[in-house]
Amino acid sequence: MTVHFDICVIGGGLAGISAAAGLAALRRVVLVEREAHWAYHSTGRSAALFAESYGNTAVRALTRASRNFYLVSDGSRPFTQPRGALFVATAAQQESLNTLYGTLSAASPRIELLGPAAALALCPALRSDTLSGALLDPDARDIDVAAVVDYYVRQFRSHGGQQCRSTEVVGLEHCRGEWHIQAGNSQIRATVVVNAAGAWADEVARAAGAAASGLEPRRRTAVRVSAAPWTVAQWPCVIDVSEQWYFRADAGALLLSPADETLSAPCDAQPDDFDVALAIERVEAATRLVVERPLSTWAGLRTFAADRTPVVGFDPDVAGFYWLAGQGGYGIQTAPALAQLAVAQVTGNQLPSQLAAAGVDAAALSPARLRQISENTPREPIQDGDVRG
Ligand SMILES: Cc1cc2nc3c(=O)[nH]c(=O)nc-3n(C[C@H](O)[C@H](O)[C@H](O)COP(=O)(O)OP(=O)(O)OC[C@H]3O[C@@H](n4cnc5c(N)ncnc54)[C@H](O)[C@@H]3O)c2cc1C
Repeated sequence: MTVHFDICVIGGGLAGISAAAGLAALRRVVLVEREAHWAYHSTGRSAALFAESYGNTAVRALTRASRNFYLVSDGSRPFTQPRGALFVATAAQQESLNTLYGTLSAASPRIELLGPAAALALCPALRSDTLSGALLDPDARDIDVAAVVDYYVRQFRSHGGQQCRSTEVVGLEHCRGEWHIQAGNSQIRATVVVNAAGAWADEVARAAGAAASGLEPRRRTAVRVSAAPWTVAQWPCVIDVSEQWYFRADAGALLLSPADETLSAPCDAQPDDFDVALAIERVEAATRLVVERPLSTWAGLRTFAADRTPVVGFDPDVAGFYWLAGQGGYGIQTAPALAQLAVAQVTGNQLPSQLAAAGVDAAALSPARLRQISENTPREPIQDGDVRG
């Protein structure tokens, strides 16, 4: 049986769900997810931090534009709670810290440079003999990702959106102004396809006959450990300024990461023992924490374009094919703004004024920009002042 929609969104992570929720208020939308559960891949595995100090200029603008969404609640529970982010530096990293401060303080007067004593007051487990300085983003927040996913799924359903889980899109053909989509055993027809397939976005593009965007899925590992004997609930998220490691409180325990970025094929990412050991080694070297044995470990894929900026907009060459991909390490904190942008562009409306006011530049996100980056151009190096995320 063939079912007709205006829009088919592929991918039931936060990107696809949030865009589908907004689109369903205006159009007939189907949301297709291969897994049995929403948010099974990257969205369900993140460190759940909202920090306007994280990422490059384009990412920071999207995060700023998402702030209002994250400061409200769905009526039952708030989406975020205060946390704070503390970027720490050894003497050798002090110059990077100063550069980062120069970049961030221009946009946010609340960003503060701290000496070692003030940093230790916030996180007493830091090693005083190696700590040279720190930068505090007091406005960073913990995100309740499950609450946000729930909220958007409820919005989607209440607007009459059609959900298809345990259904993989395996074929896409554009015929006489319409997409013919093979989704599991169903045939779907839709005028627009939204590619929110996360690590699989380039695969979906190829299936649709579009050029790949050169997206690279990169594995990141998380290790949950006991915090005893420390009381960590009030600690900020502590991040090495060169992002070699970070740790944060997680429901009474600590979540550590070696901030790894191992290139991977799109897959159900699993933690590697080496990365788990590296997380513990790096955090122990920078702190007085003694880690016994991980309580749990996991990994997820963060998918980046060459310039580490999301890939969002209509494909320049293939009609009706819309990209919502390449969110890297920032896809949770930027999702509300990216969903608003996607809704406006897919329905042919102007950039919402609050996105423009936050500095979101649709051209900087457009997939067309990547066609100008030749295959021989080296991938964007990390700049001082760009926190990788
Ligand atoms: C360890 C870790 C820490 C992170 N920390 C943060 C953080 O603190 N803050 C932050 O903002 N971000 C963070 N991120 C990044 C964030 O998790 C991602 O950017 C975000 O989840 C991407 O969402 P998505 O919907 O694009 O991808 P996903 O959640 O991966 O969703 C894509 C979905 O598409 C589906 N799909 C793919 N192909 C098909 C197909 N052919 N048919 C049907 N379905 C398909 C997949 O099954 C998948 O469910 C972190 C990521 C990791 C791994």
